[in-house]
Amino acid sequence: MNQFELIDKLEQNKTLEHSEFLRLLSGDILPDEALYLKQRAREVTDRIFGRTVRIRGLIEITNVCRNNCLYCGLRKDNRNLHRYTLSADAILECCDIGHALGFRTFVLQGGENPAISAEHIANLVSNIHDRYSDSAITLSLGEWDDRSLKLFRDAGATRYLLRHETINPAHYSRLHPDEMSRDNRLRCLHTLKRLGYQTGTGIMVGSPYQTLDNIADDLLFMKNLKPEMIGIGPFIPHSATPFASFRAGNLELTLRIISILRLMFPHVHIPSTTALATLHENGRCLGLLAGANAVMPNLSPPDLRNHYSLYDNKSAFGAESAEGLATLSSQLAKNNLYITTEKGDYSDV
Ligand code: SAM
Ligand code: SF4
Repeated sequence: MNQFELIDKLEQNKTLEHSEFLRLLSGDILPDEALYLKQRAREVTDRIFGRTVRIRGLIEITNVCRNNCLYCGLRKDNRNLHRYTLSADAILECCDIGHALGFRTFVLQGGENPAISAEHIANLVSNIHDRYSDSAITLSLGEWDDRSLKLFRDAGATRYLLRHETINPAHYSRLHPDEMSRDNRLRCLHTLKRLGYQTGTGIMVGSPYQTLDNIADDLLFMKNLKPEMIGIGPFIPHSATPFASFRAGNLELTLRIISILRLMFPHVHIPSTTALATLHENGRCLGLLAGANAVMPNLSPPDLRNHYSLYDNKSAFGAESAEGLATLSSQLAKNNLYITTEKGDYSDV
């Protein structure tokens, strides 16, 4: 079977064998084959979502984290970071600004801050829910016990983003300190599904020590999990982490994986990530043209954005920001793509 036939098979069966995924991921793929993959993925995206792009307002509620993920600039051992935690009022103010701009999804993201209790988060969710009943609340706050995840769900959070990062246990342990375990992350993901969250998972492309074999395993893991959202972006090094000297993930491979995922999961929400936009000046649009259907402009207080530094030179202003929606719109329009303010639940598509 040639690569074109393999791409057709993926579109039809929505999955492939491990060895077949490897063929699509490998550097041997020719430019016209890669282009065909991208075109098929965009056509599927057009069929499901039209030329619309969903917007989610990202509020980075705290950069304090008890964890020490080796890739992340927010890791506990990075002592060169000014740490902040937004008050509930400050977060509600971000929502007010976002709602006025047309956002109908608020994504509360942050490190695992030991000073923030589950009850505090649940109260916050409930307050946002009361104030903006027309909006969805997504959480991306790392790993919690089942009771806390249920508390958030009962308070009104309907979506949760928690990338599995890598399904390979040996690779997982090269990216994380001993206290963190792949199995605990999987436990959280299964709890989220069980509680009825629209669940997001995903990986960084090009994380240190990652192989194509790992990525093929990740694709098959996701096939099994059936997530409603998938976050895929390139790894980008941060100078104050143990991975400072590693190379950033590859743009073309990241785009190819977005296209593969779109063919595997026609209805899933895939944001074109900030990391992609940081890696390449047109990364946001390239991700959308490869099969992504959402963007997450930054809605955090502008004076704090630079402190949420996951990796070096992270974009947070201009077209990456909530206040820069007009700039983003005009960039998208050049590619015949248009922002929709629809809430955009998984069940809507
Ligand atoms: N603490 C929560 C968690 O880990 O899920 C949410 C915040 S965390 C910063 C969100 C995501 O940022 C992680 O899942 C990881 O994939 C991504 N990230 C962290 N460091 C990164 C880096 N150096 N390059 C690209 N993405 C990175
Ligand atoms: Fe903390 Fe998340 Fe960064 Fe890990 S990736 S150090 S959990 S903020």
